[in-house]
Amino acid sequence: MSRKSVNKREKIDRVTITTTTMRVKKVEKRLLKYDELPDYMKDNDFILDYYRCEWPLKDTFLSVFCWHNETLNIWTHLGGFLIFAAMAVATLMESSKGDGAISNFLRTSFIATPLMTMLTMNRNNGSRNTTQGGHHGNFSESSLLDTSAEGTELVPLWPWFVFLAGAMCCLVFSSVSHLLACHSKRLTRFFWSLDYAGISVMIVCSFYAPVYYCFYCQPLFSLFYLTSITILGILAIITLFTPSLAQPQFRAFRACLFLGMGFSGLIPSVHATALHWDHPQLLVALGYEVLMGILYATGAWFYVSRVPERWKPGFFDLAGHSHQIFHVFVVGAALTHSAAIMILLHWRQGTPTCL
Ligand SMILES: [Zn+2]
Repeated sequence: MSRKSVNKREKIDRVTITTTTMRVKKVEKRLLKYDELPDYMKDNDFILDYYRCEWPLKDTFLSVFCWHNETLNIWTHLGGFLIFAAMAVATLMESSKGDGAISNFLRTSFIATPLMTMLTMNRNNGSRNTTQGGHHGNFSESSLLDTSAEGTELVPLWPWFVFLAGAMCCLVFSSVSHLLACHSKRLTRFFWSLDYAGISVMIVCSFYAPVYYCFYCQPLFSLFYLTSITILGILAIITLFTPSLAQPQFRAFRACLFLGMGFSGLIPSVHATALHWDHPQLLVALGYEVLMGILYATGAWFYVSRVPERWKPGFFDLAGHSHQIFHVFVVGAALTHSAAIMILLHWRQGTPTCL
């Protein structure tokens, strides 16, 4: 074959390869229907369409800006991550400069209003809370709402940052998992383990601030509760990344581990209430924690029941399906927990010394 015809042949080959690659790429980037998915990706048979499946990593990554059935799952938790990141930055700025917009907003919206309502109720009932003096009982409206009280700087802020870090970790792990898990079978397994690990981290980190501030003057109890929940969390994460324990027959074991972690919060809550039951701040914080529990439980109900897509399969593929609703409830519950922590921190700042 002459040199010229070899070059021509190579050129034709190259064109053919490029065309084939383009055609393959086009097929790869198509959004699939549920029935076209490989078994490992079949999870919710009420979501019928708009699945990304085994796209190249770069395209999977860039699909954060495209419409498919995971777009809102990604952005609901990415939005939550940005809210908590903003709160972390605002706290850092405020702690270096003094009081600021975030703490003022939190105080008026989440602390002042319920506390004032409670104080009014107590006053009307002639409760001892507004009349009792002494170490814990001497409440005045100004001391409840004024964080510039003496000793403010003595109460450490690190447990609050531990919670913020845990929430950010959980939300960003979730977003990245929803974005990239569809790339391959291997990544699917890894990212869904990572997603659950993020939940474990958030549960453990959620304990630190309330336990630390409630048992500030009982450091042994604080150490006991925080060590216990941390060990449970580490066990949960080891379980999630142990392939043999990731089998379906251990599903009940994994569920018990999460439930155990969540419900173990009841013990320090009851203990703290018994210790500080005459403090209205504690009761308002407890109210927020109960609300948090209700929000998590409602979110979990949507997650398990797969409502509303089970009522109209295919209709909620892009927006409004149960997992997106679950995500919104998770962010709401975490924000409610933030309000509870703010109340406890504020209360502890008012009584930084232990008798
Ligand atoms: Zn999710």
